Amino acid sequence: MNVGLIDVDGHSNFPNLPLMKLSAWHKKRGDTVRWYNPICDSFPRPPFDRVYMSKVFTFTPDFPYYINAKEVIKGGTGYSYPDGGKPLDPEIEHIYPDYSLYGITDTAYGFLTRGCPRNCDFCIVGKKEGLKSRKVADLSEFWNGQKNIMLCDPNLIACPDWKDLIQQLIKSKAKVNINQGIDIRIMTEEKAKMIKRLRVDSVHFAWDRYEDKEIIIPKFKQFKEITEWGARKTSVYVLTNFNTTIEQDLERIYTLRDLDYDPYVMIYEKEKTRNDDPVRYLQRWVNNRKIFKTIRRFEDYDPKMG
Ligand code: SF4
Repeated sequence: MNVGLIDVDGHSNFPNLPLMKLSAWHKKRGDTVRWYNPICDSFPRPPFDRVYMSKVFTFTPDFPYYINAKEVIKGGTGYSYPDGGKPLDPEIEHIYPDYSLYGITDTAYGFLTRGCPRNCDFCIVGKKEGLKSRKVADLSEFWNGQKNIMLCDPNLIACPDWKDLIQQLIKSKAKVNINQGIDIRIMTEEKAKMIKRLRVDSVHFAWDRYEDKEIIIPKFKQFKEITEWGARKTSVYVLTNFNTTIEQDLERIYTLRDLDYDPYVMIYEKEKTRNDDPVRYLQRWVNNRKIFKTIRRFEDYDPKMG
């Protein structure tokens, strides 16, 4: 078969994992696989036997060109929100990804777990992957000695197998980035000690719900005491514009700074906010590290500064 691939979101920031797996599976069957090029591959060239289109983000515009193929298969949350459509066959889902598709040599990408019990209103993970964090792979399924590991797990430490999985990451000696963050609310002394043994530049947490403060503050304190990691190594996403006031946003930001964490403001549905919306000012103040360090209070921040 001649197989074409389209990464509808574009190739720039993050490789498309399902496409890398589809590529690996087809190549293993002896098929020819390459990126679909709307200019060179159009009629009168012979059509591809099959073209896969993958789209992760709902806000990405669809591929605007004619597709010269006998069969076109579309997949991803960008096409079927929120469930992502038909999952890959297990044989494809669990194959070692074809990193060469993106020219990636030093980083492995994948999921050790799927699902999350939290079911936050602003997040699709529970609807898409289920309300339980469960192990779906061992590290060797997508890692083969690369220097870096990019983990996309939604809630790794909620999985009953967290210890075995973190042990695998420690044993790899690779630099690990848990890019979806770690759920600080279920942190324990044992988990913090294991996480401390990981090779990481930094770890990310989130404090999305203001009302979690009674649980979350002692957990943040405990994690600091155990790891002794400074703010540069521990950042915390602070969700704004969802169901909190600016006062509650500020309280979380100041608390985190006092606890020696690095707050990072996220704006829910940012595209619907105006440039002069207070949360936009808040985001510019906090996320600009230099300004946030120099100007200690939000009321002293002049938005014209940047
Ligand atoms: S804890 Fe994170 S992954 Fe889980 S539902 Fe909430 S936002 Fe989504």
